[in-house]
Amino acid sequence: MMGGTFDPIHHGHLVAASEVQALFDLDEVVFVPTGQPWQKAASSVSPGEHRYLMTVIATASNPRFSVSRVDIDRDGPTYTIDTLRDLRRLNPDAELFFITGADALSRILSWKDVDELWDLAHFIGVTRPGYHLSESGLPADGVTLTEVPAMAISSTDCRERVVEGKPVWYLVPDGVVQHINKYRLYAASAPVVSTDP
Ligand code: ATP
Ligand code: MG
Repeated sequence: MMGGTFDPIHHGHLVAASEVQALFDLDEVVFVPTGQPWQKAASSVSPGEHRYLMTVIATASNPRFSVSRVDIDRDGPTYTIDTLRDLRRLNPDAELFFITGADALSRILSWKDVDELWDLAHFIGVTRPGYHLSESGLPADGVTLTEVPAMAISSTDCRERVVEGKPVWYLVPDGVVQHINKYRLYAASAPVVSTDP
């Protein structure tokens, strides 16, 4: 599983998922758009339904990719422990791998119920070249790090480019560009939902 705000999903996410799928020979990668992201509560985030739809559009052509609504359908902020428990309940026999960026992995120790996380899934941190796990204070046996190409793309940069009128073609899938334009996401009049408490 790969959790994220996906506001919008971009080719960095997709390359990372594809790379880890191939490396670990995973049957399926389930993308899980977050509900109200508690770590980003101070900023505003696009409505979950738009982030869900963009994730579906971006992953539709890959038979090993799917999208789960567990986080956007759950009330309140998303905690990874709840996501993992839900996916475990829905897939009782599966071996779960949690794919996350090294940036997010570094914040893992601040997560709710961190000790139970290691029992629920194996963690795969996707990193930029030159990042060292020893700096993170994470247990080495529960975490695997792997380098992926295309790390320089971020959703923040994509949103800023839309605001500035710059193209996001080839940073995000074509259908996601079209979805952003169709619903005027990230433009001044975009239908954003404030997540401020
Ligand atoms: P934002 O800029 O809004 O924080 P983001 O690009 O980091 O967005 P998220 O939805 O926050 O995207 O990320 C979801 C997951 O994907 C996180 O674990 C994040 O670390 C990882 N990720 C983000 N960008 C990349 C990338 N270019 N390559 C690989 N993994 C990435
Ligand atoms: Mg991020």
